[in-house]
Amino acid sequence: ETLEAMQPGLVIGRFGQHADVEDQAGKVHRCNIRRTIDSVVCGDRVQFRPGKDQSLNVSGVVEAIEPRKTVLTRPDFYDGIKPVAANIDQIIIVSSVLPALSLNIIDRYLVASEDVGIEPLILMNKVDMLSDDARQEVEAQLKLYRDIGYQVHYASCKTGEGIAGLNHLFMDKTSVFVGQSGVGKSSLINCLLPEAEEAIGDVSSNSGLGQHTTTAAKLLRFPGGGNLIDSPGVREFSLWHLPVEKLTRGFREFRDFLGGCKFRDCKHQNDPGCLLRQAVEEGKISRQRFNSYHKILAGMDEQRPAHSRPP
Ligand code: GDP
Repeated sequence: ETLEAMQPGLVIGRFGQHADVEDQAGKVHRCNIRRTIDSVVCGDRVQFRPGKDQSLNVSGVVEAIEPRKTVLTRPDFYDGIKPVAANIDQIIIVSSVLPALSLNIIDRYLVASEDVGIEPLILMNKVDMLSDDARQEVEAQLKLYRDIGYQVHYASCKTGEGIAGLNHLFMDKTSVFVGQSGVGKSSLINCLLPEAEEAIGDVSSNSGLGQHTTTAAKLLRFPGGGNLIDSPGVREFSLWHLPVEKLTRGFREFRDFLGGCKFRDCKHQNDPGCLLRQAVEEGKISRQRFNSYHKILAGMDEQRPAHSRPP
């Protein structure tokens, strides 16, 4: 028998066929995964058996996954929907001015977050690039989100403005950063988590063993407490697979106005007796958000990524 007794652990690394599992004393064990269990992902709480021979590169075995509080998924043609990270408490939607601020893209991430039941926060990065006037304009645009109950924060990786103030947001929670390429997710990770660079190096050195860097995921620690899970799959998180009803409910301030429309199949467009449109006209719902909703609705079919279609 080469394995020790079963014990609880936390998955802090995931690549190829292996998982790095941290035991309760903080020791990390590289493990194989029993074929009988479903995909193991970063953030999973598992039952595992550490290997007795610690000189082996891979020594332990993950035997079971504890029920997940939350799960982020991505589409996969061969496996349907695949998990990419588990037990996430909050999704940090990163935006910037370069690439340009897009409220529609923010809305897409908000809807996707609402769908998985994880609290989203908006983080506007690169504020150093804004003149005072431009800053005021951005704040005026984003005030909309505060009004409907989302947190909005401002920061700059370049000047450090707002960075220290973010630490309390991450404490005692497991977070992920999402957002368009180029908004500064890597930069934020590097300036908020000193151990990040080392860990990213770790991931690429493992790719030498024939593992896919595209599936590599890491759970990192914020110095003030709290975890961050980062992986390409997490960054691609989107709402491509959402049915229309869920899209509509994903606009949280719409919920009070749904269900009472005159027509049961109301498209919330030009239909008579639409309570949602009435709420927009009465100023109870922002026209910006209403238009953004219709834009997403109109594009729902085109938006499916290529890998969700048959090859
Ligand atoms: P990612 O694709 O979201 O991971 O974005 P990166 O972290 O790679 O950043 C994209 C570019 O934006 C890089 O050239 C960064 O140096 C730059 N960048 C990141 N944060 C800031 C910031 O706060 N201010 C400015 N001016 N540039 C930034």
